[in-house]
Amino acid sequence: MSATANPALFRKLPSTDELLQRPEVLKLTQQEGRTAVADAIREVLSHLRGEITASRLNEASLDLALAGLPSAIERQLRQSLSYSLRPVINATGVILHTNLGRAPLAPAALDHVRVAAAAYSNLEYDLDSGDRGKRDVHVDRLFKRLFDKYGENTELSTIVVNNNAAAVLLALNSLAEGVEVIVSRGELVEIGGSFRIPEVMSKSQATLREVGTTNRTRIEDYERAITGSTRLLLRVHRSNFAITGFTEQPTLPELVDLGRRRNLPLLEDLGSGSLFDLRSVGIDHEQTVFDSLRAGIDLVTYSGDKLLGGPQAGVITGRAALVGRLRSNSLFRALRVDKLTYAALEATLLAYVRNDLETLPALRMMRVSKDDIACRAEAVAANVGAQDLEIKLIDGESVIGGGAAPTAVLPTRLLALTHRSLSADELCRRLRQFDPPVISRVEEGRVLLDLRTVFPEEDTAITCSLQSLA
Ligand SMILES: *Cc1c(COP(=O)(O)O)cnc(C)c1O
Repeated sequence: MSATANPALFRKLPSTDELLQRPEVLKLTQQEGRTAVADAIREVLSHLRGEITASRLNEASLDLALAGLPSAIERQLRQSLSYSLRPVINATGVILHTNLGRAPLAPAALDHVRVAAAAYSNLEYDLDSGDRGKRDVHVDRLFKRLFDKYGENTELSTIVVNNNAAAVLLALNSLAEGVEVIVSRGELVEIGGSFRIPEVMSKSQATLREVGTTNRTRIEDYERAITGSTRLLLRVHRSNFAITGFTEQPTLPELVDLGRRRNLPLLEDLGSGSLFDLRSVGIDHEQTVFDSLRAGIDLVTYSGDKLLGGPQAGVITGRAALVGRLRSNSLFRALRVDKLTYAALEATLLAYVRNDLETLPALRMMRVSKDDIACRAEAVAANVGAQDLEIKLIDGESVIGGGAAPTAVLPTRLLALTHRSLSADELCRRLRQFDPPVISRVEEGRVLLDLRTVFPEEDTAITCSLQSLA
């Protein structure tokens, strides 16, 4: 208690039991149970005690707060019983926004998750033989169809773990525990959320052998570093940055050739792992999973919820013999995914097999034209009576995000907002307070909304939010 806090104010606070007897509170107890209501009362009282201690309440303002106690208790109760994980409207223009949950799932994936989750399933049960089956078969068959023509003469196989970080950990531990892995200094990356290649390497018990320099690494650097204890070559996609200027990196064919000559498998952490050609959206330097397999990479790892457009997962595709070594590692059991992930992934992959890419929201957003976005932005602007809010349409750029094509941008049309009495930061904060919250970005004193990442059916919610700010 601070020296200035007034002890008389504490004595005015009613007890939890007293409050539980009040008619308005009794009504809540009947709806939600005594325990939840008592918890809400304690939260509210503890907040008031804090305010008194900090001398933020005087006699008069405390009386006001006490008069409003029942409604404060109800608000607290509703909040504690509602979901904390909520949908938001992503108006940032970052398609695979890690903080906003990366790829939204396709309707077919949601349906399949619902059906698979609500009932028993043949997750690990072979319906022909009645024996125990493998959970990977449900997606491996689809990956096989997609990768059919890339395996040259080797059989390709795919397994799935919790995320790509887990995939890299599993691959390194299975193929290089206690021995050396060669990697370029220019690829010792950190991905958001503290995924650092050197740290994953040390957790995997593989020994890191760095070669080259940050900006230049040549194939001879790899070759010279090979010793009797080298077991693996690692290539990491520079997901979230680009090194430009005086740079050099061995090509995939050079690395593949070196691996074959020295009998060392080549593992590639591709990060985003696109299963469609980004040239169709004007991005011509993002390597796809097909590119890696075509070039002869032995094992490639990638995320399920980045450019693939599915659930969080780490996918490992490669030569069946190597994948078999990963599968028999006990870590694989610890990192395995559940039936919900398999269901969502199976439905997502089926969209690729059917060439039904428009049904995958992340891919659809990448393909929406600037004209379409401009049209929708104009409609939103036209429907907001701008009294206090000034809305302009300006050209801008959307990004893919999620560590894909770090330098690639998609042209877009932005709603640029300025408010007569609110700062851009305050306006951005107000937008977050709507239900659903609208997530925007601030640039040069303006709030920018990019409808590329907004579902068209959410345009109305944005319009209403802006109307109430105007
Ligand atoms: C995103 C990324 C990862 C981490 O993938 P998660 O699925 O988030 O675990 C690892 N490596 C690269 C190159 C990435 O881009």
